[in-house]
Amino acid sequence: MDMQVKADLHVHTTYSSDSVITPKELVFYAKKRGLTAVAVTDHNQVEGALKIAKEIDFLIIPGTEISSLHGHIVGLNVNELIPRGLSADETVDRIHKAGGIAIACHPFALLKGSIGGHVSGKFDAVETINASAFPFNRATSKANQLAERLKLPKVAGTDAHYGPVIGQAYTLIDSEANVEAIVKAIANGQCKPEGTCISLLMRLENQGRFFWKYLQNSKTA
Ligand SMILES: [Zn+2]
Ligand SMILES: [Zn+2]
Repeated sequence: MDMQVKADLHVHTTYSSDSVITPKELVFYAKKRGLTAVAVTDHNQVEGALKIAKEIDFLIIPGTEISSLHGHIVGLNVNELIPRGLSADETVDRIHKAGGIAIACHPFALLKGSIGGHVSGKFDAVETINASAFPFNRATSKANQLAERLKLPKVAGTDAHYGPVIGQAYTLIDSEANVEAIVKAIANGQCKPEGTCISLLMRLENQGRFFWKYLQNSKTA
């Protein structure tokens, strides 16, 4: 078998209140970037990802980004809702019970609800490249050290909330192009993170909604 999947493993759609990416846009940018799969990882839900996977003609890995007590955790190949607010440990257990794999996303990025030192060998992979992590170099090198210390596979994703960000970072996976095979290959370490950080301009677009909300909230507070 000699197949390779090129996937952005961390994308938010309009099913996350802070993203503007519609399913149509997701496919447009994914194809433009030469991706063969995208993981839809909306915050604390799965319905959007499942719906999109059925509706569009593109390989979608259904996922979710869970706000655990200790920080964000991405679950891939998860078809059921995992409750938020549980410990990192229990969240990983729930993901595994649901048949998925647990990824320590952006473990050291600032302003992202990062999990930091709460990552254990129980996780299946570390997102060592998160294209929108800040400060990028520091977050990336610390995540690399963590993955190496725990001997965990390394993956990449963009955390896109804005279409053109999709595919700036991606994971190459030695796998057949189906969800089960992809998550198995990642857990086995048959994957490689690629790509880099987004430009400052893209960062503003990517987080524009976040800043807008922040301003609105601080006005009403
Ligand atoms: Zn996050
Ligand atoms: Zn995210």
